[in-house]
Amino acid sequence: AQSQARSLLVATPNTPSNSRFTETLAVERALHTALERREFFLVYQPQMDLRTGVIVGAESLLRWQHPTWGLVSPVRFIPLLESLGLISDVGQWVLEDACRQARRWEQMGLALRVGINLSPRQFLEPDLFDKIQRAVVLSGVNPAHIELEITESLAMQDPANAILLLGRLRETGLKIALDDFGIGHSSLEYLLRFPIDAIKIDRAFVTNITHVQADRVIVRAVTAIGQTMGLSVIAEGVETLRQCDFIEALGVTEIQGYLIGKPMESAQIETLIANFVRPGAETPTN
Ligand code: C2E
Ligand code: MG
Ligand code: MG
Ligand code: MG
Repeated sequence: AQSQARSLLVATPNTPSNSRFTETLAVERALHTALERREFFLVYQPQMDLRTGVIVGAESLLRWQHPTWGLVSPVRFIPLLESLGLISDVGQWVLEDACRQARRWEQMGLALRVGINLSPRQFLEPDLFDKIQRAVVLSGVNPAHIELEITESLAMQDPANAILLLGRLRETGLKIALDDFGIGHSSLEYLLRFPIDAIKIDRAFVTNITHVQADRVIVRAVTAIGQTMGLSVIAEGVETLRQCDFIEALGVTEIQGYLIGKPMESAQIETLIANFVRPGAETPTN
């Protein structure tokens, strides 16, 4: 792991200062014990169906709470888990914990679809199919309530293999979403051939939707394709009511973002659903 850690740093374009170097090594060392020390936990971010105003899903998002550093961002530690070869074990824990939570919600009568992110390394593991099956069967969850998220760029690295694997997973009843859509380079032909259920439009296209026409054109086109293929189209990173109005007018079917809720503990999802009023519904803007 030490030599891997070094090569990782050497590969960094800006030569890190000594303190950055030490800091990264310390983070890496701590990651080796984080799983057994139960420092990881999942939070869930709600997704609302724009057609019904109902919370229909929640994406699981990994958090690392270090005893002295506090919360570390997944953007920082997930690439390290990958390069250290730890993502397989942590990814399996994520799969099992999220499936268990989805099952708990089923038993409470909440038919929530739970999103689970797969990392690039995980996606390349030869036994990924079996590992996912194990998590689903162990938990007893209805596979239709689990949505695996893989990024568009990852799916495009080896499209032929992705099509096979996603197809097999989908045959077991699981749902598949293409994550961060629009920032990769799918050819339209591949998009049409991927066995998927949903497209998640990247936040980059949502942020400026109210004033950048090019972003509206892209979102409208993706949505039209999604509709034709019978897919859900989920917009990520919707923060304001105005963005939501634009997104809705373009035909997007679901939104996820701070407007509906930030990532939260599972119990908070239940409270949110119990008291949920669609944003803007209380104060009509006419
Ligand atoms: P992602 O899968 O695209 O997840 C969406 C990210 O956007 C989350 O960041 C979420 O908190 C953030 N987000 C959602 N709505 C808004 C919004 O309205 N405004 C803003 N500014 N941000 C919003 P987070 O939790 O920091 O996760 C970042 C990325 O880390 C994820 O992107 C995903 O690629 C990765 N990740 C998180 N959890 C896992 C995991 O369990 N496994 C794997 N392999 N990757 C994960
Ligand atoms: Mg995701
Ligand atoms: Mg995403
Ligand atoms: Mg994203």
